[in-house]
Amino acid sequence: MGIESTAHTFGASIVSSDGKILADVKDVYKPATGSGIHPREASRHHSNVAHVVIRDALEKGNIKSSEIEIISYSAGPGLGPCLRVGATVARTLALHLKRPLVPVNHAIGHIELGCLTTGSLDPVTLLVSGGHTMITAYSAGKWRAFGETLDITAGQLLDQLGRHAGYSSPAGAVIEKLASGSSRYLKLPYSVKGNDVSLSGILTASKRLLDQGEGIRDVCFSVQETAFAMLTEVTERAVAFLEKTEILLTGGVAANTRLTEMLKSMSEERGVTFKVIPKNYAGDCGAQIAWIGALAFRSGVQVPVGSSWVKQSWRFDGVEVPWRIVN
Ligand code: AMP
Ligand code: MG
Repeated sequence: MGIESTAHTFGASIVSSDGKILADVKDVYKPATGSGIHPREASRHHSNVAHVVIRDALEKGNIKSSEIEIISYSAGPGLGPCLRVGATVARTLALHLKRPLVPVNHAIGHIELGCLTTGSLDPVTLLVSGGHTMITAYSAGKWRAFGETLDITAGQLLDQLGRHAGYSSPAGAVIEKLASGSSRYLKLPYSVKGNDVSLSGILTASKRLLDQGEGIRDVCFSVQETAFAMLTEVTERAVAFLEKTEILLTGGVAANTRLTEMLKSMSEERGVTFKVIPKNYAGDCGAQIAWIGALAFRSGVQVPVGSSWVKQSWRFDGVEVPWRIVN
């Protein structure tokens, strides 16, 4: 069983040791319209819903709690108060069921769940979510960063633009819908530095365009075209440099059809395979924690309950990935 609680989502999932997702249940905290995630409010939400989410996961998976073999939890990166609720729930389960406790890096969860659900083996991965914007590939024992955002993430860009326009967070899906109603491009800063991207200039400029009276549809269209073209460019450069043959798109923003289209057309031009995580597993969920917990435990990873921990800024590229056998 995996417990996810890094930000707005409290999730519990049961995954078999051979990678079948038997249950994946979540309850998402929704901030007031115009606000972002309030960490304390989100953590309160998580502690209120935890028992229901876990009970539903057991029921949906048709599993008795005594049949659970490993308890894994998202140990970071994430919001401290939210991480602590998930860790406390996981510790309690581990003690009660007398099962090993496995800390999981949330970003690696997004990547490896993408591999599991798409059959991707050794991809260049574009991870785009509320907490991450990274281009990564596995090499010599770790998932390594070949590009990332220098400031805000793609999810933050969309959510903060949405909030400025009066929509509630997360706003990515609303922005996608609005963008599909326009094809009028307004110039926005295209900022690629080396193989990194800077997205905060797009946010500032697009908010200014809205304040100057430009239409919301045109602004959303232009933001998507600019930001997604930048992400496609850096992903393409990483693929060319690394000579990998697969691209994987994962994380909450992977639900976006326009981003998918751009990456697909670039992949076709380069003759590489393109895969995208199914929409129901794109955003934060327990399955990304349960599956990596199973992989890591098999490689000997676990932590005693008494010294278990959470780390708000736990980077994925420092984490040993002993379960991968490619290169
Ligand atoms: P995660 O942090 O992985 O749960 O992903 C959440 C992020 O995905 C939020 O920033 C959402 O706004 C974003 N998101 C969800 N659906 C879409 C969509 N259709 N297009 C773009 N972004 C989206
Ligand atoms: Mg996430």
